[in-house]
Amino acid sequence: MRRLLVAGNWKMNASKVMLNELLAGITANAPQQTDVVVFPPAPYLLMAADKLQGSSVKIGGQNLNANESGAFTGEVSANMLVDCGCDAVLVGHSERRTLFAETDTDVLAKTEAALAAGLTPYVCIGETLEEREANKTEAVIEQQINAVLNGLTVQQLAKCVFAYEPVWAIGTGKTASPEQAQQVHAFIRSLLAAKDEELALNSHVLYGGSVKASNAKELFAQQDIDGGLVGGASLQAEEFLGICNPA
Ligand code: PEP
Repeated sequence: MRRLLVAGNWKMNASKVMLNELLAGITANAPQQTDVVVFPPAPYLLMAADKLQGSSVKIGGQNLNANESGAFTGEVSANMLVDCGCDAVLVGHSERRTLFAETDTDVLAKTEAALAAGLTPYVCIGETLEEREANKTEAVIEQQINAVLNGLTVQQLAKCVFAYEPVWAIGTGKTASPEQAQQVHAFIRSLLAAKDEELALNSHVLYGGSVKASNAKELFAQQDIDGGLVGGASLQAEEFLGICNPA
């Protein structure tokens, strides 16, 4: 039985005041039946970990460098994230792939580094509008997920969370319809099943792309959608809680 999992990606949005207000709002009403994780920007992780002590809400980093330490100015390692109180880290978000030229090879290296440090990698995959319109959605998804499926053991994969985020739906207000999303989620689960049946049954596959309190219930009701990776709507406690508790 996969519990509902909702993750909030704050992207490059935060201040000390905002963090205090947002986390106070979320923790005051975090639903027991949903696992909740927030991904604040790196400079705020320690403060977030402090605020979330004693709460069921977990925190994660938005990115990591696959190297352990050294001359990588501006970068953050997996062990630093752990040291700051993180449980998880986003890997391969489409903004990282597009704006920072991250490749499938980088995604695998980062996922391995995260796992080695004991973090849960949230491996993000998704097609662009151009790719969808050219009927390449499944080919793109397969290529992106195969980078990790072929590079990791079943035991390692069992510690990952997968997020399907159609690029055309991220931050655009255009959500995939529940049927469109379910179709791709079922395809992702079939790829996981080809690797290992148990892995497919137990893995969380989240949907991301303009999830809001008003559309979360229908999306999360789909058989293969186990929760959401939420950007914009995770910046307001009430809206985010409406997604975490979509009943
Ligand atoms: C995201 O950043 O992963 C995301 C899905 O953003 P939004 O919810 O704003 O579309």
